[in-house]
Amino acid sequence: MIKAIRGTRDILPPASAVWNHVESIAREVFRAYHFHEIRTPIFEATELFARGVGEDTDIVSKEMYTWEDRDGSSITLRPENTASVIRAYIEHRLDQQPGLKKLYYIGPMFRRERPQKGRYRQFSQIGAEVIGSESPAVDAEVIEMVLEALIRCGVENPHLIINSVGCPKCRPVFVEALRSRLQSVKGAMCQDCQRRADTNPLRVLDCKIPEDQPIIDSLPSILEHLCESCAAHFEAVRRLLKVRGIEYEIRSRLVRGLDYYTRTTFEVTHGALGAQNSILGGGRYDGLAESLGSRVAAPGIGFSIGEDRLVMAIEEKISGAELGRLDVYLAPMGQAALEHGVVLARELRRAGVVVEVGTEGKLKRAMETANKLGAKHVLLLGDNEIAAGVYALKDMASGEQENLTRAALLKRLAG
Ligand SMILES: [Zn+2]
Ligand SMILES: [Zn+2]
Repeated sequence: MIKAIRGTRDILPPASAVWNHVESIAREVFRAYHFHEIRTPIFEATELFARGVGEDTDIVSKEMYTWEDRDGSSITLRPENTASVIRAYIEHRLDQQPGLKKLYYIGPMFRRERPQKGRYRQFSQIGAEVIGSESPAVDAEVIEMVLEALIRCGVENPHLIINSVGCPKCRPVFVEALRSRLQSVKGAMCQDCQRRADTNPLRVLDCKIPEDQPIIDSLPSILEHLCESCAAHFEAVRRLLKVRGIEYEIRSRLVRGLDYYTRTTFEVTHGALGAQNSILGGGRYDGLAESLGSRVAAPGIGFSIGEDRLVMAIEEKISGAELGRLDVYLAPMGQAALEHGVVLARELRRAGVVVEVGTEGKLKRAMETANKLGAKHVLLLGDNEIAAGVYALKDMASGEQENLTRAALLKRLAG
């Protein structure tokens, strides 16, 4: 038997209905904020991620699916989508269009991580980017939008964590302070931290090893090293969250795993998933476009929701079986009833009613099948019903049967 590759999975019905539900809510919310969808390719030149995400990140150094194409070029399955969106922005000169570019995407990403609960090597992200403004008002609006989407999806009490990671002017000062402090404490830390203390001290703040946490908590805070304009930007973001009544926690360790972030970073966690409870991450990336070859400044901010984890957070409350429920099991008794029934079924379906046409031909079997499928109603159709122009609609929960004309039937089911 051929099985799905380790770290990948099939999303089957009824669970797939929850995925569709989440995606349609996201599209609706993004639409209300005047975002538009962008669809970029699933594979790109490896160089895009090496430059865009950063060579020393775990993603680029350990987790990418990269291969040499037949022409010798190096190709990678996208591990995230921000770099691709910025590439498209530059390639299609979207900076020349009026206003901000507000784009969203939904689709699979690929990282060769160690498989564990809630983590897959092919996983799905719902993300959005706003390109073309440095304004803190944009940061606050993007954060509001993603919280709206989560709440409408059914996430209870999402917990917002924010931070500022500074800019190319003030961050290097902080990194040096961090580096020098790490020299005296790194000996007690894990192997990765010892290496990162020299190569990329910011990454130490991401370490998840429990023994390292007290040391990390004692390290200098970036918030004490922000330059005047970064401090003012962060202050403005916080004020604009406050006027909206959005609560947040400031966590100075939140630097996120990607090199391109500047100023605002944020994360949303949710209690139901235990330790691995981050549902989304995001942040500002003001120099990213330039580092990918843009000749014009294209400051931006974005986020990506881990859709696998979002679905996990809500699937106990939102049932795929309920979302995908069958309204009517139409049971024709005989050939004439079938020919009449298929036309009626189309009429009902056009009115938005979910209909399945049975093939049993025997009342008892039809009722059994309708029951197993969880149909809300059974519509019994025999020669008598057709002749009388009255349909027998049985409510499966109450067991009650109503006799309805065609017009009354449509009104009853589609209304
Ligand atoms: Zn700064
Ligand atoms: Zn560590």
